[in-house]
Amino acid sequence: MKRQALTHRPVPLAVIGGGAAGLFAALTAAERGLGCLVIERKARIGSKMLMTANGRCNFTKDISAERMLVDIGEPVAGFVRPALTACPPSAVAAELKRRGLRVKRMADGRLFPASERAADVVHIFGDALRDHSVPLLTNCPVTGIQPVKNGFIVATRSFTLWARRVLVATGGLSFPKTGSMGDGQRFAEELGLAVEPCRAGLVGCDADDPALRARVGTRCERAAAAVVADGHELFRAEGEVEFESTGISGAAVYNCTRFIARARPVRWDLELETDEGRHLVRHPRLRPVKEAIVTIGGVAMDGIDPATMESRLVPGLHFAGEVLDIDGPTGGYNLTLAFATARLAAVAAAEALGRFPACA
Ligand SMILES: Cc1cc2nc3c(=O)[nH]c(=O)nc-3n(C[C@H](O)[C@H](O)[C@H](O)COP(=O)(O)OP(=O)(O)OC[C@H]3O[C@@H](n4cnc5c(N)ncnc54)[C@H](O)[C@@H]3O)c2cc1C
Repeated sequence: MKRQALTHRPVPLAVIGGGAAGLFAALTAAERGLGCLVIERKARIGSKMLMTANGRCNFTKDISAERMLVDIGEPVAGFVRPALTACPPSAVAAELKRRGLRVKRMADGRLFPASERAADVVHIFGDALRDHSVPLLTNCPVTGIQPVKNGFIVATRSFTLWARRVLVATGGLSFPKTGSMGDGQRFAEELGLAVEPCRAGLVGCDADDPALRARVGTRCERAAAAVVADGHELFRAEGEVEFESTGISGAAVYNCTRFIARARPVRWDLELETDEGRHLVRHPRLRPVKEAIVTIGGVAMDGIDPATMESRLVPGLHFAGEVLDIDGPTGGYNLTLAFATARLAAVAAAEALGRFPACA
């Protein structure tokens, strides 16, 4: 089937992906008078956001950008510094509050909708984009991006679209049923950008350990986990530990697996510190990326200008959110990173194009 051109004039900004990053970017662009549209694979926007924090959506943390950067650590912190400085956690919270979200703060600073319904956050984006008349093309997987003179041709299965600038916000590889299946990483590779291998970031571990099996179905809220190798502690995280039928999960374990995925120690074990004392879990195995909260790997930071989220190789092509090789610990960091990088990309696109309101 020949694919029809949807427009004969270029759309100023085409946002690929209607998740956290794509929606925040579209809203930012629309507020600056930049014509844009959102193209989303799934029938509805924000599928992954709806799953966050068991449907409660821990959308950011009430800490400074500086504190968040320390917690995120290198190599990611240096890259996301301009994004988080321009859009700190307080700005994320203010944006959602300004649009009517009632917010609940936990003792550790994590912020949730007061209703504990992630759908309230997704609705805020949907309503705001409706109010700005931003078209949302759902059920519409993008299949390729081709640079042309004066922009890009964005192809879907049924039509093509001409855009001056493109923002790829297609997410990581985890929970593919939410629509994030690695397409953005493929587009980047096809255009010659470097892409780091994708792997699980915050994920549970499987372990054959009778002591763990004895606690299946329980959790210890005030616990800690440490990555140890040859008797040395490489990393330690405090937080919940949950005992599951095949192994362990919970915030403390997740943050340890993030460390393992980045530092890639050759050998490692996990030491748990729970209400029952210390216990060394030998030879645990990370669960697959499809079960992870975040993907590590993706479009390489080196190839992206951290001040604009624009590709250094393909001018006019921006990236934001988990499609990039960026990640943070549990506790609202990853949504904050998606929002902040998206805002920076949209502001940069708007500045590059000037006021360009027509969405042809
Ligand atoms: C179970 C779970 C719980 C989590 N809880 C939290 C939490 O409480 N707090 C927190 O900060 N983070 C949390 N995260 C992480 C957070 O949800 C992600 O980091 C964040 O959603 C990333 O935003 P994104 O916009 O980059 O990607 P996504 O939200 O995954 O959005 C990408 C969108 O792009 C669309 N797309 C993909 N390919 C195409 C294509 N070819 N064409 C068109 N559209 C396409 C997808 O359908 C999807 O809608 C959680 C993740 C999971 C899996």
